[in-house]
Amino acid sequence: MDLHTITEIKRPARAEDVQEWPKGFAWLAGGTWLFSEPQIETHTLVDLDSLRWPSLTASAAGLEIAATCKIIELERFAAPPEWCAAPLLSLCCHSFLSSFKIWNAATVGGNVCMSLPAGPMISLTAALEGVCTLWPRQGAPRQVPVVDFVTGNHTNVLAPGELLRSIFLPASALKKAHAFRRFSLTELGRSEVLLIGTRCPKRGTFLLTITAATLRPIPLSFANLPSAAELQAAIDQAVPQALYLNDTHGSPAHRRHLTYYYAEQIRVELSA
Ligand SMILES: Cc1cc2nc3c(=O)[nH]c(=O)nc-3n(C[C@H](O)[C@H](O)[C@H](O)COP(=O)(O)OP(=O)(O)OC[C@H]3O[C@@H](n4cnc5c(N)ncnc54)[C@H](O)[C@@H]3O)c2cc1C
Repeated sequence: MDLHTITEIKRPARAEDVQEWPKGFAWLAGGTWLFSEPQIETHTLVDLDSLRWPSLTASAAGLEIAATCKIIELERFAAPPEWCAAPLLSLCCHSFLSSFKIWNAATVGGNVCMSLPAGPMISLTAALEGVCTLWPRQGAPRQVPVVDFVTGNHTNVLAPGELLRSIFLPASALKKAHAFRRFSLTELGRSEVLLIGTRCPKRGTFLLTITAATLRPIPLSFANLPSAAELQAAIDQAVPQALYLNDTHGSPAHRRHLTYYYAEQIRVELSA
């Protein structure tokens, strides 16, 4: 839709060129959310496209995903064969309420900064132990794990004007075995529940990351594979009833039920 309140679009060559951040400024990434509803309080968009950050940088240490990386680029990324968890990239790119138009425009950073419970890039990067690099308008860059970046439904730790620069996925996480479970009312619908489990092939550590069902990502980590009862007890302790999301896509009771159901499936799958 047209945004009638916008009076200026800035296209900086470097993020440092934007020092001041008055009320009414907003970063523009793919624009798929920004242009989907009126932005009454916004008068200036600062386009991230002109920064020309390389989308994906793979190294022995891991994968750096620029905030401006498009969903379609991540979906098409050819990972090294030893990154056993790489199929999660594509699985999560397909876990959107989206058409090809959204895929080609929406960015990984935009999805994470929206901080919606059903943000599949949050599910992906939280499960793969991602760390965000944030650039404040003034002051030094800081790093925040994805699981701490999102604080609630559509809330996060970003200060006004602070920019998400990139998300780093360590190779140690990308080399883990994985299991993925998702429920949505329609095939390409918004996720009601999205759970990812990973297991270190060397040390046997197990990480279950609960997303979409809850207001924010919930990581549960274990030194060894837990028993079914231990896993259920850990979920009980980490996710009080009030942390389950209640919206048109699912009730807290249904989300809770599916969380237990899929968690146990993942535990069994990764016990092999
Ligand atoms: C029909 C429809 C269905 C949708 N379905 C889903 C869904 O299933 N799941 C889901 O999570 N979302 C969904 N969305 C919301 C949105 O389209 C996605 O979250 C998308 O990934 C946002 O990315 P974008 O690059 O288009 O962000 P934009 O729309 O450009 O920006 C989104 C917000 O993030 C801020 N922002 C963007 N990049 C940065 C950055 N690098 N640093 C700091 N702030 C930044 C912007 O200022 C803005 O506030 C849907 C939207 C529509 C219209």
